[in-house]
Amino acid sequence: MKLKQRLFTPGPTPLPEEVRLAQARQIIHHRGEEFARVFQEVRQGLKYVFQTGEEVLLLTASGTGAMEAVVANLFSSGDRVLVVRGGKFGERWGEIAAVFGLEVISLDIEWESAVNPDLIRKKLAKDSKIRAVFTQLVETSTGVVYDIEAVAKIVKETEAVLIVDAISGLGAQPLPTDRWGVDVVVGGSQKALMLPPGLAFVSLSPKAWRLGENSALPRYYWDFKKAKKAQEKNQTPYTPAVSLICALRESLKLLKEEGWENVLARHAKLAQATRKAVLALGLKVFSKVPSNVATAIEVPSGIDPKKLRKIMRDEYGVDVAGGQAQLAGKIIRIAHLGWMDASDMIVVLSSLEMSLSKLGYPVKLGKGLAAAEEILGE
Ligand SMILES: *Cc1c(COP(=O)(O)O)cnc(C)c1O
Repeated sequence: MKLKQRLFTPGPTPLPEEVRLAQARQIIHHRGEEFARVFQEVRQGLKYVFQTGEEVLLLTASGTGAMEAVVANLFSSGDRVLVVRGGKFGERWGEIAAVFGLEVISLDIEWESAVNPDLIRKKLAKDSKIRAVFTQLVETSTGVVYDIEAVAKIVKETEAVLIVDAISGLGAQPLPTDRWGVDVVVGGSQKALMLPPGLAFVSLSPKAWRLGENSALPRYYWDFKKAKKAQEKNQTPYTPAVSLICALRESLKLLKEEGWENVLARHAKLAQATRKAVLALGLKVFSKVPSNVATAIEVPSGIDPKKLRKIMRDEYGVDVAGGQAQLAGKIIRIAHLGWMDASDMIVVLSSLEMSLSKLGYPVKLGKGLAAAEEILGE
């Protein structure tokens, strides 16, 4: 039999039936009335999940496209910015900013750690020329979640804007955009929002829009002002990924039916169960402040993470992520992100136990599962 394939990667994530079927329908025209109705509903739904009263811009791009668009719309060459670099995605903010000629001050932190908000306070206090702080909500490459509430409190007191890549974290960790005062939030479709890759989202506070007024960087496709103006008429400036937007309407409906608080609580519970299982198996959680997006597990010495992932994939149809960059030979990451429930976690944890056992790691089969079930069965 061909194995069933199950994704436990921190993007893309599995798709609910409603989302899959929405994309199978005949295409509609993006200048027609039906699209405008769909788009109006989607705009409301995005405000609900971003927890903001501001317009959430929808871009046809992967998450990185929206990250680049933020830089291109808010800054000018030579602007000084502070970039938290605690993993692959923090580095990406720095790379994009550098490409556009910004002056990047890096705040480098150890990859298993969260950023200490006090370090940001100190940098901002010393240097009033810093126009923005770039960070992640969850640094997916390390599995670490940052304390954005504390960071926002600090940045709010300054002239700088806070720009948060919440592409993986949105839906897995609380991020009340307006209440915390986060100026820019970037989201993506293929994570907790249960969609295929291809859409990205950006919310901007009035302070962020004001910063954009002075921006002199070139942009055409990415123009936020054009996008906002079009969206207010339930349009997009250019042909968007229409089928993905129809699918987005379905996923937003599902999230709203479940209730945002419940979505967050579900992610928290699945993550907690996974961590408990990992510890019960005598393994170590890599992240010092582990997120609800994915659990990064230190692979015990003598076990090759590539081989472990291959057995999980080839024998049990379970796809988990490896480590990126310097973490490649060190960790695996089990995502509990998006359309996931308790039974899914039993499947992935069981395949982990069996695969570790096959590689000669001394595991008492069922020990991790028992620990997880105590949480999942509550
Ligand atoms: C997935 C992800 C991205 C976006 O990557 P794309 O491949 O461009 O969609 C950016 N930041 C974080 C933290 C992510 O998890």
